[in-house]
Amino acid sequence: MQQLIGCHLSSSKGYLAMGRTAVQIGANTFQFFTRNPRGGQAREANPQDLSAYLAYADGNGIGPVIAHAPYTLNLCSAKEDIRDFSLRTMLDDLARLQPLPQVLYNFHPGSHTGQGEEAGTAQIAQALEALLPARGNVTLLLETMAGKGSEVGGTFASLAAILHRLGDPPGLGVCLDTCHVWDAGYDIREKLEAVLEDFDRTVGLSRLYALHINDSKNPRGSHRDRHEKLGEGMIGLEALERMTTHPALCHLPMVLETPNELDGYAREIRVLRACGEALA
Ligand code: FE
Ligand code: FE
Ligand code: ZN
Repeated sequence: MQQLIGCHLSSSKGYLAMGRTAVQIGANTFQFFTRNPRGGQAREANPQDLSAYLAYADGNGIGPVIAHAPYTLNLCSAKEDIRDFSLRTMLDDLARLQPLPQVLYNFHPGSHTGQGEEAGTAQIAQALEALLPARGNVTLLLETMAGKGSEVGGTFASLAAILHRLGDPPGLGVCLDTCHVWDAGYDIREKLEAVLEDFDRTVGLSRLYALHINDSKNPRGSHRDRHEKLGEGMIGLEALERMTTHPALCHLPMVLETPNELDGYAREIRVLRACGEALA
């Protein structure tokens, strides 16, 4: 089985265009924003594009894909209108994603904007109680965060608290972003096994559904969240390759969110594939 490796792609030309681009750059998965990342209207659904994409994905071995919610949403803002808007937007995203057979819906848990982690966690869990019944066959993923500002999800324990509050329901899991966990303080460069044990004890590795593979511009624990090209940041290529080939992780869909154009993504995908194949 080929590893599921891809990158973030622009959705401006629709699903089929993303599928074709993915194949061109050696990807068999990809990620896209469900709508303008800063919020705003989703494009009109296009059933012809969708069915053409599904046939193309099937014929070209494109596996599950990741839909990323706009990063401006905030399920635990102190402002009720922002919380409501975020929930409504996510419900609309879930409805629009239903025709895709295998899709993971990744979102940032939220920023509690001064309310405190506990209150933020409760509001996120409350929103998820409304989202989960509408998920259909979409799996919702809380992304691990760098812990900048008042972000919730900057520790594994904080994500686990959300899952546990809901009783660890089916259809809800975590997407691990390598830049974010590094910036949050986890030493994935020198102590990967210990970090994965920590994740397993708190969240549970069975709850991990996807990876964002990024290097980081900043030192561990910086809480900055600035992605870097693979091997040009503080995590380094070797450590990232230890993750993408790790027996507990190598089967997961992994997407790059590095500062690259398509040729740069193609190169990074080749590098990761070569590393995986050398070990296989
Ligand atoms: Fe993200
Ligand atoms: Fe990410
Ligand atoms: Zn990020």
